[in-house]
Amino acid sequence: MRAEDLKLDDIISFSDGHLSLHGRRLIIHDIQAMAQLRNDLVQTVGTGNTRRILTRFGYFWGEADAAGMDRIMEWDSTEEWLRAGPHLHRLQGLSRTDITDLEIGNSGKFRMEIEWHNSAEAEEQLIELGPSPVASCWILIGYASGYASYCMGEPIYFKELKCRGRGDELCRALGMDHDSWGEEAKSFADDMQIGEIRGKIKELTAELRKKNAELARQRRRMRKSGSFYMPDSPHLPSKAYGLVLDSASRVAGFDSLVLITGESGVGKEVIARFIHRNSPRRNKDFGTINCGALPEELLSSELFGHKAGSFTGAISDRTGLLEQTNGGTILLDEIGDISPALQLTLLRVLQEKQIRRVGENINRDVDVRIIAATNRDLERDVRDGRFRQDLFYRLRVVEINIPPLRKRPEDIIPLARFLTERIKKRLDLETLSLDPECIRYLESYFWPGNVRELENAIERAAVMSEDGRIRVEHLPPSILRVIRQAGPPVTGEMRRLEDIERRHIRRVLESCGGNRSRAARVLGIGTTTLWRKLKKWDISG
Ligand SMILES: [Zn+2]
Repeated sequence: MRAEDLKLDDIISFSDGHLSLHGRRLIIHDIQAMAQLRNDLVQTVGTGNTRRILTRFGYFWGEADAAGMDRIMEWDSTEEWLRAGPHLHRLQGLSRTDITDLEIGNSGKFRMEIEWHNSAEAEEQLIELGPSPVASCWILIGYASGYASYCMGEPIYFKELKCRGRGDELCRALGMDHDSWGEEAKSFADDMQIGEIRGKIKELTAELRKKNAELARQRRRMRKSGSFYMPDSPHLPSKAYGLVLDSASRVAGFDSLVLITGESGVGKEVIARFIHRNSPRRNKDFGTINCGALPEELLSSELFGHKAGSFTGAISDRTGLLEQTNGGTILLDEIGDISPALQLTLLRVLQEKQIRRVGENINRDVDVRIIAATNRDLERDVRDGRFRQDLFYRLRVVEINIPPLRKRPEDIIPLARFLTERIKKRLDLETLSLDPECIRYLESYFWPGNVRELENAIERAAVMSEDGRIRVEHLPPSILRVIRQAGPPVTGEMRRLEDIERRHIRRVLESCGGNRSRAARVLGIGTTTLWRKLKKWDISG
């Protein structure tokens, strides 16, 4: 996303006395009242202290906005994220801000020049106190410094060179990194920091942020240079997903068999495609087959092909998927569901790199990389004798486990944004965006059906929404019920509280796939309490 694409509509929402910007509550101030406050402050604590107080106020504001922008949007680059600051400024009515110069150098060098054309603060100054002998846009200075420092992960200080509040035509400010300011930096730091502790905390978080930013930059670079190709997938910030990608990119270069595990809907095929697209086989075909969806006979024929007349319905000779994708990669999804006979056939295929079409006695060479996927606990299936041990070990040369979405909640928003964009294209809609309150709802749900459930929920909401704006009420009722943790609406006759409670608990339990501790967490009660209630009502989870 680019800064210029940022629309007020996307980030601000208003309902019933609650105004919020990217999910944080806002209030609108009257400029005269602000001018009065400024005047009172100057009278009480003096100009220097007022400057420090207002600069800090702006600094926090800018930091919070930068964090918010990072949380709800995926920016093309740090620069775009940075440019969104002045844009946000403008949307919030602080001033019309233009960036006239921006240089982000290596090793922390930073330089940014901005112009504020109609600074609200300068106007306050002129209204209440008259022209000032010094530059007076303290909140703006603090804001710009806080925003830029957060984005860059190091202290950036802004200074006003010209100010309308002291009679200049417009306000012009210069922002630079700590070192570039030389001697002056210390006084800025004093104005903007609150004591040593906060400084220390900031230092540590800045360090962390810098590392994260560097990682993100690296990923972007790799994706751009094509050395790390991510087909049709968003950048997901969680460490867990980063590890999945790391393993996948490492294994891509080799021809090893890979077993991808994870719950239904976590995106196992996305990772399989990722491996293929980054492997030496990338210019050959990628095939995928769901082994759980077909009866044995049909699955064999799909995989290996058949000779005409070999079984009912086999009217003509047919090549199977393994032959069709020769040279490429095949994803065998739901591998845990194949029959013992087919397990044996597959084992031979893997050992001999040859197949036989159903009803034929000729061996045919195939050269296909196999990636298997399952949501089952194959190790347990091996122990229970449902899955061949030799096949299991052969398939699981490298295992990549994709954690469920609830274990990486920080991926939910970027995913939701990505899916919204994809659904917009698929449904051929002119616009489709997520309301901030809706984003909070999505974030608070635990998505037992993972990415697939999220995608279905957004698609449903897109269809229900009439104006291309997805709001809370458009989300699937089943999800809303769980999130709101409220009993079903009482319709018609009055119900006993216990009935409502029982129905609600049953529903939550169902949506948690019977997992009691998770259900208890959603319900906000202890597991023992839940267990007692279930026992009383004779509900089994
Ligand atoms: Zn000014």
